[in-house]
Amino acid sequence: MFKCERCNKISEPNEKLNKLITKTRPREYVNKYYKKGQEYTKVTEGFEIEKEINLCSKCYEEMKENE
Ligand SMILES: [Zn+2]
Repeated sequence: MFKCERCNKISEPNEKLNKLITKTRPREYVNKYYKKGQEYTKVTEGFEIEKEINLCSKCYEEMKENE
């Protein structure tokens, strides 16, 4: 069981937990590689999850619609 972080309702025992990502932050991944004895750095950009919330099915559907 879990508590919905939007309506604060405690879930039913068989209710599925829905996770919604509410915040992400950009992140740079630095990869080093060698070519002909020289070191190179390759930076790729991505993002990582900063915050996600637990939602009941009803709130999850509502939040998705409002996106
Ligand atoms: Zn809810």
